[in-house]
Amino acid sequence: MTAPAPSPLFTRDPLPEPLNTEMRTLLAASAAAADRSGLPDLDAVDALRRTGLLGLSVPYEYGGAGAGPVELNRCVAQIASVNASAAIILFQHYAVSSRIVEQGTPEQHAELLPRLASGEWLAASAWSETGAGADKKRLSTTGHRTEDGGWVLDGAKSFTTSAGLAGIYLVLVRTGEASALEAGEPGYGAAGQTFFLVRGDNPGLFPDTSLPLVGMRGSATGFVSLRNCQVADTDRLGPAGAAASIIAKVRESGATLGAVALGVAQAALECAHEHATAHDLLEHQAVRHRLVDLATEVESARAMVERAGRKDSADPGTTTLHSKLCATAVAERVITGAEQILGSAGYAEAHPVNRYRRDARAVALMGPTNDLCRELVGTPWTQ
Ligand SMILES: Cc1cc2nc3c(=O)[nH]c(=O)nc-3n(C[C@H](O)[C@H](O)[C@H](O)COP(=O)(O)OP(=O)(O)OC[C@H]3O[C@@H](n4cnc5c(N)ncnc54)[C@H](O)[C@@H]3O)c2cc1C
Repeated sequence: MTAPAPSPLFTRDPLPEPLNTEMRTLLAASAAAADRSGLPDLDAVDALRRTGLLGLSVPYEYGGAGAGPVELNRCVAQIASVNASAAIILFQHYAVSSRIVEQGTPEQHAELLPRLASGEWLAASAWSETGAGADKKRLSTTGHRTEDGGWVLDGAKSFTTSAGLAGIYLVLVRTGEASALEAGEPGYGAAGQTFFLVRGDNPGLFPDTSLPLVGMRGSATGFVSLRNCQVADTDRLGPAGAAASIIAKVRESGATLGAVALGVAQAALECAHEHATAHDLLEHQAVRHRLVDLATEVESARAMVERAGRKDSADPGTTTLHSKLCATAVAERVITGAEQILGSAGYAEAHPVNRYRRDARAVALMGPTNDLCRELVGTPWTQ
């Protein structure tokens, strides 16, 4: 399997040197293999470790590259253009690394950041659970104080990317009560919720990736159960009960899952362009114009993702939400357009365009879900 050839229809952003043609080819091949098997894409994780890309978001003094959101979004988009499952693994790793940088104690920085930068440990987010709602207000997973000043966590998390692969999980639990009023308010998270950093080798943490997913099949997205999971108070990230305010600041970071959708849209465009070239379709003006329209869509999503990363709008958090809504909608339209150009060739089950569609759908379902993004942008208009 060869990597898709670069298309002259759109621009590629520069990336650190390690993502060369060989790496793109490897990631593309492992994406196809993991999609067939439904097993965690260990070759992609190994490749991410070797490239050094896992350290991009960690400050230089802890062994990372100290990159900002523009570079992180570009990197995630490029990885997604060949392997969307690897891109969400990377996105979650960056997200947790960034929360540790922002909220961690000096001891947490010294212990965790070098391991996250080197790729020795992958980081995962375990926030979602069945019944908690997309906005994570009704969490059932609890954290109780123990007599020795530690905590014991109990509950079950669903849809955790990198389950079973991660060396550290950022787990969202309920340590106090949210008010009844707050439960009905728009927002993400609730009062009385706390973050803990739980190590992958904690004997009270049980990952389970046995539920086959429709898309993102190499991402090791699965369940994580916490049973009598003992952690120290020094494993808490941020103040007890303050997780909601940390979550609210996440979108201000400029990192956006729209970058994953952008990469998938780019892959669909490349595949349509390759097909049109190989089958002499470019001599038809209608096909050329359709491809230009698709390329324009991809460039519009790229502009939104870049703008989110620059954080130079009047309201960077809202721009980040817009960028995810924009890029996921673009990915859906570009994939539909690519399917039209591919014709029956794209209807073969193993054709990659079918993986792109399944992977793109996942981005809209990931946090904040697109509907929740709309609520977060639109609800303030009613107040
Ligand atoms: C591939 C994949 C990877 C994921 N990785 C992770 C991960 O690493 N860590 C993690 O914690 N989670 C992860 N998730 C979970 C994801 O972040 C969602 O938050 C979670 O799936 C929400 O579940 P739901 O849509 O079933 O929620 P439900 O609350 O059941 O939502 C049902 C529908 O109602 C809408 N809805 C619900 N509440 C609101 C609201 N308040 N306002 C507007 N619309 C609303 C939703 O958008 C959705 O369309 C992943 C999901 C997928 C698909």
